[in-house]
Amino acid sequence: MELLDGKVVKKKILEELKEEVLKLKRKPGLVVIQVGDDPASKVYVGQKEKMANSVGYNFQHIKFDENIEEDIIEKKIIELNNDDNVDGILVQMPLPKQLNSKKIQNLIDQYKDVDGLSDINSGMLTHNVDTLVPCTPKGIMDILEYYNISVSGKNVVIVGRSDLVGKPLASLMLNANATVTICHSKTVNLGEFTKNADILVAAVGKASLITKDMVKENSVVIDVGINRVNDKLCGDVDFDGVIDKVSYITPVPGGVGQMTVAELGKNVLKAYKNREKQKILEKQ
Ligand code: NAD
Repeated sequence: MELLDGKVVKKKILEELKEEVLKLKRKPGLVVIQVGDDPASKVYVGQKEKMANSVGYNFQHIKFDENIEEDIIEKKIIELNNDDNVDGILVQMPLPKQLNSKKIQNLIDQYKDVDGLSDINSGMLTHNVDTLVPCTPKGIMDILEYYNISVSGKNVVIVGRSDLVGKPLASLMLNANATVTICHSKTVNLGEFTKNADILVAAVGKASLITKDMVKENSVVIDVGINRVNDKLCGDVDFDGVIDKVSYITPVPGGVGQMTVAELGKNVLKAYKNREKQKILEKQ
């Protein structure tokens, strides 16, 4: 069994980004909007800021009060859409219940939507058109590529159908010629599906959901889940139970989670480059 080490891949990605940023005529700009004081959001925003500073981006953190009215956020997003120095805009989820997350996400200019969660970018991903793609699923594709694990023709089973992970990952896998099965909370006999997976992805949020009897011998297991059990972080897979049976597995922590923030860094540079290209075309 070999560990798929997210830290190693993240380090390589960030080093490459840093080198590229040094050659640019201006620093790419990333803005993260946070609403309220959710402790997990605070941690995630902090990780984004650290990444942005480490590769040389301009980072701006805009924080609104928990009870903010929607139109104030909307006005801010429109202002940022029109700000030439801003390449990426991200609204940290989850938002307080009174706000319409989907509407807010869809207001972000599609070329600055570095989370790739707007309907237009999800549609383009489904149609296999090059676009900004959600960071966690893109991180899974990149970690597999780094370890030379081909997905073409493989039986890929994804447990979880969220807009954030499961669905965009299914599109990326299909676009890469995998045979894809998506399982979810209403799937009957989950193990019957997972047992056939050459590559099994668990993105649910339930500790030890995937046990030894549910994985195929010598398969690749990608554990996206982040759960806290007895004050310790763990994924959705019973790690100790499956390690002798599988050929590769991502640890939690230290696997997919590491990739997510690195992919955000990649998306910001991609957005910057697309926008600069667009500006040249508009001048011609
Ligand atoms: P979600 O709650 O939006 O979706 C969970 C999915 O799991 C749903 O589609 C649901 O149908 C499915 N599900 C629930 N119970 C199930 C069961 N018993 N059997 C099969 N399927 C079941 O969650 P999400 O945003 O997709 O996140 C999933 C997990 O991944 C969470 O633990 C989250 O913290 C983690 N996550 C990690 C990263 C990262 O960077 N590592 C990024 C995003 C999410």
